Amino acid sequence: MENEVSLRLASQIKLAQLKQAKQMDLDEAELYKSRIKKLLEQENAVLVAHYYTDPLLQSLAEETGGCVADSLEMARFGHQHSASTLVVAGVRFMGETAKILNPEKRVLMPTVEATCSLDIGCPIEEFSAFCDAHPDHEVVVYANTSADVKARSDWVVTSGIALDLVDHLAAEGKKILWAPDKHLGNYIKNKTGADMLMWDGACIVHEEFKFKGVLDMKKLYPDAGILVHPESPANVIEIADAVGSTTQLIKAAKSLPQSTFIVATDRGIFYKMQQMAPSKTFIEAPTAGRGATCVSCAHCPWMAMNGLENMLTSIEQGSNEILVDPEVGKRAMIPLQRMLDFAKNNQLRVASNG
Ligand code: SF4
Repeated sequence: MENEVSLRLASQIKLAQLKQAKQMDLDEAELYKSRIKKLLEQENAVLVAHYYTDPLLQSLAEETGGCVADSLEMARFGHQHSASTLVVAGVRFMGETAKILNPEKRVLMPTVEATCSLDIGCPIEEFSAFCDAHPDHEVVVYANTSADVKARSDWVVTSGIALDLVDHLAAEGKKILWAPDKHLGNYIKNKTGADMLMWDGACIVHEEFKFKGVLDMKKLYPDAGILVHPESPANVIEIADAVGSTTQLIKAAKSLPQSTFIVATDRGIFYKMQQMAPSKTFIEAPTAGRGATCVSCAHCPWMAMNGLENMLTSIEQGSNEILVDPEVGKRAMIPLQRMLDFAKNNQLRVASNG
């Protein structure tokens, strides 16, 4: 199974690198943006973009009344918005989540080929067998999973809420089966002391951040703060000034006293960090293979497949519509709705994590 997943992962990364959005100049970008703005209005559509996407897409979402957010907020925003079409700039599981939560809405994506190493590394058949082998465990899956895997779970979580939820379940004496990100799972396990069984998955972007590289950079910028996403390896998390979801890291960039930050997450987040803290400086944390491969450049190859050109085509032609089997969708809706309800009931506590 491991070899099969590795091969699938390697070929998906190659495909993503080949299809990354082409660079365009600013004039051309403005033309695309104005055509997309008109189409969004005509189609009663709203744009929901992840923090890791191209800054051009993030600014377009902001200019058109859409949202730029982490996957939890993207789900919440799309669910509450009155638009009949959601245009999701991100990776496939985000489009699927939007469709599951809004079966009556049309969900379009610039590309349906943008996936995620965590999703690829957690195929439903193997995952289901893993769950069946541990029936006494509460199944908690990260949002970066397929609709089928979500449908097999008791809870879906994002990195913004995972710690609070596991803490809550552990306090109820529950044993937890966690999937798919082992680094995030181990971070939560260490923080909460919960009894957790881990699936062996990882994010190809965050796994590349290395302890020694970050320490070497800290020597160059001794006053810099270190911001780390918990999908990173444990020894990188240990030296962080703030650990958290994308939203929590953006809040930390603004509220912490340092004027310079070394950031261990996808560099797409710099757009929002710079907007929230314009006087501060943000530096990419070094990765193991800097300059050697595209995998190790602190940028998700699948997020980079979203561009203005393919977004325009998708809205113009109604192509790349995300469909989820209605039966699977109904089952996946249960753990997703649990997450949204838990987030709502714990709003104050979740917000204070920033
Ligand atoms: S950055 Fe990592 S976790 Fe996020 S979509 Fe890309 S591969 Fe998946």
